[in-house]
Amino acid sequence: MMKIGILAEQNDQRIAVVPSVANKLQELGAKIMLESDAGVKAGFSNEKYTDAQIVDRKTILNDSDLLIGIQPLEDEELNKLKANALVIAEYKPFFDKEVSGRLKQAGIRAISMDMIPRTTLAQSMDVLSSMASIAGYKAVLTAALKLPRYFPMMITAAGSIKPAKVLVLGAGVAGLQAIATAKRLGAQVEAFDTRSAAKQEVESLGARFVEVAGAKEDTGAGGYAVEQDEDFIRRQREEVQKRAMNADVIITTAQVRGRKAPFLVPTSTVEKMKPGSVIVDLAASTGGNCELTKDKEVIQSHGIWIVGDSDLANTMPEDASTLYANNLFNFLKLIIKDGELDLDFENEIIKSAYITH
Ligand code: NAD
Repeated sequence: MMKIGILAEQNDQRIAVVPSVANKLQELGAKIMLESDAGVKAGFSNEKYTDAQIVDRKTILNDSDLLIGIQPLEDEELNKLKANALVIAEYKPFFDKEVSGRLKQAGIRAISMDMIPRTTLAQSMDVLSSMASIAGYKAVLTAALKLPRYFPMMITAAGSIKPAKVLVLGAGVAGLQAIATAKRLGAQVEAFDTRSAAKQEVESLGARFVEVAGAKEDTGAGGYAVEQDEDFIRRQREEVQKRAMNADVIITTAQVRGRKAPFLVPTSTVEKMKPGSVIVDLAASTGGNCELTKDKEVIQSHGIWIVGDSDLANTMPEDASTLYANNLFNFLKLIIKDGELDLDFENEIIKSAYITH
């Protein structure tokens, strides 16, 4: 019987498999091993994994045929795995260009959840969307907590307060969730994107779409944005600056897959913002959309709070783990047949996610 090992994350609050999904995996005919206390930070104690064998990390690494996690394993641990073991995590080969080579050299097979295509067929397996959506929601809450002003309009006996103005740069999954959350809190929202498809989505959420003419698009890029030329980015920065001067909050999410994030908010724009305003930069890990962003840091510069955090899903570990686990299960159903691994490379989803061909 195939053994599936669920690993504890080393620098992460989440766990890749929640108890309900562990039970369903058992029903697929696999034996489940859980690294002891792996779910505690996400709210899932060992006892909740009723059908799993609770073991130490060494046993998981040595004995599993399939190892499941979120963050990639450290290279030194790869050598401890069974030959030909299959590991599943987010390997981000677009950013870590050598990772496939390292895994192959260690004799390991790997599936990278972030390589699952962003298609309708694979929507139920799309961990990037699940995590981006949490990040967009949390970005707005983070900004609201820092802002010295209200989000909603307030009409009180002590006077009236205008609603906050929120500017969202990049209206992909995170940006759209940020728009929806800011609207629910009563803010006025404007958003930018380079993909024309985003316009309708932004407007359907009741926000204003700001257009900059001449954006490049490529239908062959799998729905992703493409890099814009310097002239476009310069004109975009000017438009952003005009709106930033009146904004209370800027949520930046603009990314181009495999590239450095576009540079949209220079210091000269931050200097023109109202004191106490907040920028939350979700593109921090790929260089940031704001010039002053420091990844994994909260700073105050020119009187503006700048939060650099691309990992906000990690701050909501229970639901983040549940969604990750559900996405993962929908994928595992494709590759487990009668309790054994069956990788059908004719299947586009499996072919794209498998990074050790
Ligand atoms: P992402 O994280 O790669 O980028 C975030 C957003 O930044 C994108 O909307 C992108 O267009 C935008 N952007 C890039 N450069 C910009 C610039 N200079 N100015 C303003 N905005 C800029 O994107 P994502 O949220 O991961 O989504 C990627 C694509 O996949 C989107 O087209 C999304 O609609 C699509 N998608 C499809 C499905 C599906 O059909 N199953 C699911 C999820 C996402």
